[in-house]
Amino acid sequence: MVTANPELTYNSKIEGDIVVTRVDAAINWVRTNSMWPMPMGLACCAIELMAVAASRFDIARFGAEVMRFSPRQADCMIVAGTVTYKMAPVVRRIYDQMASPKWVIAMGACASSGGMYRSYATLQGVDRIIPVDVYVSGCPPRPEALLDALMKLQGKVKKERSFSKLLSA
Ligand code: SF4
Repeated sequence: MVTANPELTYNSKIEGDIVVTRVDAAINWVRTNSMWPMPMGLACCAIELMAVAASRFDIARFGAEVMRFSPRQADCMIVAGTVTYKMAPVVRRIYDQMASPKWVIAMGACASSGGMYRSYATLQGVDRIIPVDVYVSGCPPRPEALLDALMKLQGKVKKERSFSKLLSA
């Protein structure tokens, strides 16, 4: 007769020391708590982006305080400011240089839609050149709005089917 291993059964000595989860949940947990932003500061919104790292707002609470100016070490581009046609190819190139998976936050009216600059020089939204995951309204948005966008992005990443994407990559 086969008997269950008492070391592994319910009420055993190791009960409470085992955590069962899905692979997706584990991967997404790691990703959401270690997003390293690529600060694409292009105009005045970048000042609010800087403020979010200060002690009053403390983006470190979300594990996202490591702002890398190297695209290869960043996975979340924060486009903060007006995207001109002159800068657009640079923004696209830096986005392409970031390793996957990667996400984008369009911070402020200018990055999201061109804002008040309906002019020959301004791209009418950074989503014309790169995919945007979360848009932040405002001119400029307050640092809290950027933190809210970060939490929204974390919520989105938590629902991703990461493991199957890794297998099919
Ligand atoms: S949205 Fe407003 S604050 Fe932000 S870059 Fe445009 S003009 Fe400046």
